[in-house]
Amino acid sequence: MIMNNDAVLDEVRRVLLENDDFVITAHVNPDSDAVGSCLAMGLSLKKLGTRVNVVLDKFHDKNSIIPGQELIWRDEAAAPAVSVFMALDCATPERVFDPFGLMKLAPVTVCIDHHISHDPFAGHVYLDSCASSTCELIYRLVSPMIELDSDIGSALYAGLLTDTGGFRHSCAGPETMRIASELIKLNIPFTDIYNELLERHSLAETHVMRAALKNLDLPRNGRAAFSFISSEEMADIGAEATDTDGISEYLLNIRGVEVSAFLYERFKGEVKASMRSLTANVSEMAKAFGGGGHKHAAGCTIRAPLTEAYAEMSRAVLSAIETA
Ligand code: AMP
Ligand code: MN
Ligand code: MN
Repeated sequence: MIMNNDAVLDEVRRVLLENDDFVITAHVNPDSDAVGSCLAMGLSLKKLGTRVNVVLDKFHDKNSIIPGQELIWRDEAAAPAVSVFMALDCATPERVFDPFGLMKLAPVTVCIDHHISHDPFAGHVYLDSCASSTCELIYRLVSPMIELDSDIGSALYAGLLTDTGGFRHSCAGPETMRIASELIKLNIPFTDIYNELLERHSLAETHVMRAALKNLDLPRNGRAAFSFISSEEMADIGAEATDTDGISEYLLNIRGVEVSAFLYERFKGEVKASMRSLTANVSEMAKAFGGGGHKHAAGCTIRAPLTEAYAEMSRAVLSAIETA
């Protein structure tokens, strides 16, 4: 059943109350909404007295400020027991981080998501593409079931804060602000969460930004901003994938820019693209490359040499600008 209505929420609540051995995961390369929603869900299930493990792909160090890290499964050789498999913040089954292949084994599967490009793939699907974040949906789900505490509040706040770009984006409506206010009442360290997740950057990130700005191109009189970083540049800096976070946003923030695209060469023949826009639908653009996301923030993987991927992506973005 796929609906963002109360009946589906109740159905998912019954799943939470009637089962044990939950495995919770999110999309590969998880952002703070993915980590926050999984850990908030895990901590909530703990409060309900359930066995729960959170299986997460490698994430940026800054997310270690999110409480509930003790729930993360650390054994790479053996899989946790599973009765219910929950995939959070995942638009498609290909995006689900599932190193043990548990989604197929689990008797019950649940998906909770807010991506406009969502392609339903679980037994129980709670989807609301108007929600600010998956954390907002987890709040809706668990707040009538348990007493929220500061740890769960901090984890939820992490997703609300970051997926709205610091409560700026259009997806941050009155309901998002009301929930944030409820979470702040739990005495969460909201200043530290903001600084750690949105402001502070490492030296490696600073060097990646320098390389990205060196490779900056501003075609169409600066209506588009493109940049890239090659695998050689990444190796020279000693940077990791997560050190490229935030560059596409930075490029979009250049005055006059309407769409930005940042390409990072994972290795020869595989390029990750991040697109951001003020108006154009970059989710559609990313879908054309087999990716997806939201109207104003999307991503995809292009299997081609960097120069070719760059040419294809800039062609797609520029033609979207022409027709906008
Ligand atoms: P990113 O550019 O990686 O920060 O991603 C921006 C948005 O697009 C996020 O909501 C991602 O979940 C989504 N996204 C990124 N890459 C993909 C992909 N390959 N397929 C579907 N959605 C994606
Ligand atoms: Mn996400
Ligand atoms: Mn999200």
